Amino acid sequence: MRLSRRSLIASALTTAMAAAMAARAGAASAPLSVVATTGMIADAARRVAGGEAEVRALMGPGVDPHAYRQTRTDIAAMVRADLVLWHGLYLEAQMEAFLADLSRRTRVEPVAEAVPEELLRAHDTYAGRFDPHVWMDPDLWAHVVLRVRDVLAELRPEAARTFAANAEAHLADLARLSAYARETLASVPETARVLVTAHDAFGYFGRAYGFEVMGIQGISTESEAGLNRIGELVELLVSRRIAAVFVESSVSDRNVRALIEGAAARGHEVRIGGELFSDAMGPPGTYEGTYVGMIDHNVTVIARALGGRAPARGMDGLLEAAA
Ligand SMILES: [Zn+2]
Repeated sequence: MRLSRRSLIASALTTAMAAAMAARAGAASAPLSVVATTGMIADAARRVAGGEAEVRALMGPGVDPHAYRQTRTDIAAMVRADLVLWHGLYLEAQMEAFLADLSRRTRVEPVAEAVPEELLRAHDTYAGRFDPHVWMDPDLWAHVVLRVRDVLAELRPEAARTFAANAEAHLADLARLSAYARETLASVPETARVLVTAHDAFGYFGRAYGFEVMGIQGISTESEAGLNRIGELVELLVSRRIAAVFVESSVSDRNVRALIEGAAARGHEVRIGGELFSDAMGPPGTYEGTYVGMIDHNVTVIARALGGRAPARGMDGLLEAAA
């Protein structure tokens, strides 16, 4: 006889809960323990919480959130946490069942659901669902930062003013980032504003900055790209004379290379314009390992590869030299 996934999760939860409750007692003014699923959410929590929280991200650089499933270590961390921040909008498709269970015991918040529905893009394959990649537009991400602020203030009202001031400072950075992106991407010649990537993570980016966006795979990386899709995109690259396509740090570059080979066979040379951070940030401790650095990198690399003007080291000269 075999135990169901749900009962395995439940028993892991019970064991970890007992340890967590023992640990939590008597720690009134210790930093809040916050677990975030993605690096982007962890970054928002760190910026807003400052020293009031210890924040841990489950998914590191190069990790694909569409496919990620919680490990035993993750389960232990989430059960022990005061707050679990996840994205929602079906980004963490493999974690939904676990998070639903956990929400009966721990404060669990799907922060991307703070973005007003009228600002969300429809999902390409599921009716009634939305494109989860809202971090691609800093103006949308601001809604997430505000939700993080509100949830932290609810859990620790005595620090509400700190959270508010930190959030305001971070929102000012996001506004500057947004202005940099707008100005930089407007320097790309209009006919070159086509972004071809491994999967459809850049829909909000395209909408915000006037780019046509084409992913080889759809909004989730769960469905494989068909040969038809590769053929279609090769045709597009050749007929529109598109000079560069982009690989993503969290998705295999196999399909992107197939595009380049397909175009080459038709006598059109396409370059890899650079590696973009689509669904995960860069390494912790680097500028690219922050939300602002991630977006600065993407904007700068895209603009430079497609004929626009951008400083090689980005908005504040902090990027590793962009391609
Ligand atoms: Zn994605």
